[in-house]
Amino acid sequence: MNLNELLASSRIKNAKEVMEKAFRSYLTYRQKSLEKIDAEKLKKELRKIKEISLSNLDELKKKAIENFKSQGIKVFEAKDSEEARKILLKIIPENEKIVKSKSNVIEEIQLKKFLEKRNKIIETDCGDFLVEICGESSTHPVTPALHIPIEKMVEKIEEKFKVKLEKSPEKIIAWVKEYLRKEILTSKIGLTGANAISSDGAIFILENEGNISLVSKLVEKHIIVAGIEKIVPSMQDAIRVCQALAIWGTGTSLPSYINIISSPSKTADIQKEIVYGAHGPKEVFLVLVDNGRSKVIKNDLSEILYCINCGSCLYFCPIYRQIFDNYGYDYFGGIGIAKTAFINDLKKAFERGLYYCTTCRSCKVNCPLEIDTAEIIKKLREISVNEKIETESNKKMIENIREYGNPFGKVEEGKIPKELYCC
Ligand code: SF4
Repeated sequence: MNLNELLASSRIKNAKEVMEKAFRSYLTYRQKSLEKIDAEKLKKELRKIKEISLSNLDELKKKAIENFKSQGIKVFEAKDSEEARKILLKIIPENEKIVKSKSNVIEEIQLKKFLEKRNKIIETDCGDFLVEICGESSTHPVTPALHIPIEKMVEKIEEKFKVKLEKSPEKIIAWVKEYLRKEILTSKIGLTGANAISSDGAIFILENEGNISLVSKLVEKHIIVAGIEKIVPSMQDAIRVCQALAIWGTGTSLPSYINIISSPSKTADIQKEIVYGAHGPKEVFLVLVDNGRSKVIKNDLSEILYCINCGSCLYFCPIYRQIFDNYGYDYFGGIGIAKTAFINDLKKAFERGLYYCTTCRSCKVNCPLEIDTAEIIKKLREISVNEKIETESNKKMIENIREYGNPFGKVEEGKIPKELYCC
């Protein structure tokens, strides 16, 4: 689909309409939450936490793994998507139903595509569930069903489940809850991501819906997949990340729930003998995924990994607000492009919008970590030009500079050049 067709598509038109409403309410909520705290102080603290974490990542990872192992959590390390999938396909028994919560890293390693051949997977995040029912794909990391009209949601649910539903968010969610509750109660495997991992041995998963609490506690095996950049030194640091995620992610001061997991469920109530799997999971697995992240650090671009994936920058990005998930790959917007360059490769980043960024820096102003995505994009463009991955306009401008000493080509006095290469 070319750009004009894309912009004229009903999917993009719907997304734009809903985005306006979502943006206004997000801003109002976020403003109220920010008024309650010293936002500048929190931002500084967050940057410091990430700076320290990423410059000591190997050491912190080692400490975290030792702590988790001593607490009964089984830890695996995966260098790339393929290795992560291999590990997970071994841990997850064939034909077993899996209840899953929202996780970007699970999308990133494309696990679902492989699991679907042998397991039934149930998305338990309301947004992800609705996206799937509607045969759609996510447009936002925090609110994935943002672009889907309510009429379509009702139509698809009625068609698939032979029920009658009112077109009201409350009624839809009540039906989704009832449907998913049955699935969760009859599943033995819970699959989630993580928002922060403290090297002192705790995994933080935050949520507003309550599905993660159920998926991580009502199953026998809880499997957590997370990128290595989620590791921070202490639990206090992890709490800071959770607080920022709530404020910049959804606009609320705090998430409804923060799940802190440090071991499988256990009791020593009978003669002080530890028995695992008391009320919660008997086994907890943690798969730590690298998948290009070490390369980011080696390339001196650690700032990319400061990202906590709150999605705040997307609301303010002039490109994302026009084409949504078509700007980025598994991760959206300028920062998504930067991640794609390492998780996938520069060619994929180029195809998905390496040259779309206007370098306006609205993202930086609205990022809790003040990540200078525009600067990162400029560096990546430099690398891509050196690797001969560039746009036709770029090539032409360079040719013009060589031939005419300016990027526009032959310029006649008093006349505007034929091609300005600005868009
Ligand atoms: S770049 Fe900043 S604002 Fe954007 S998702 Fe990452 S942390 Fe959030």
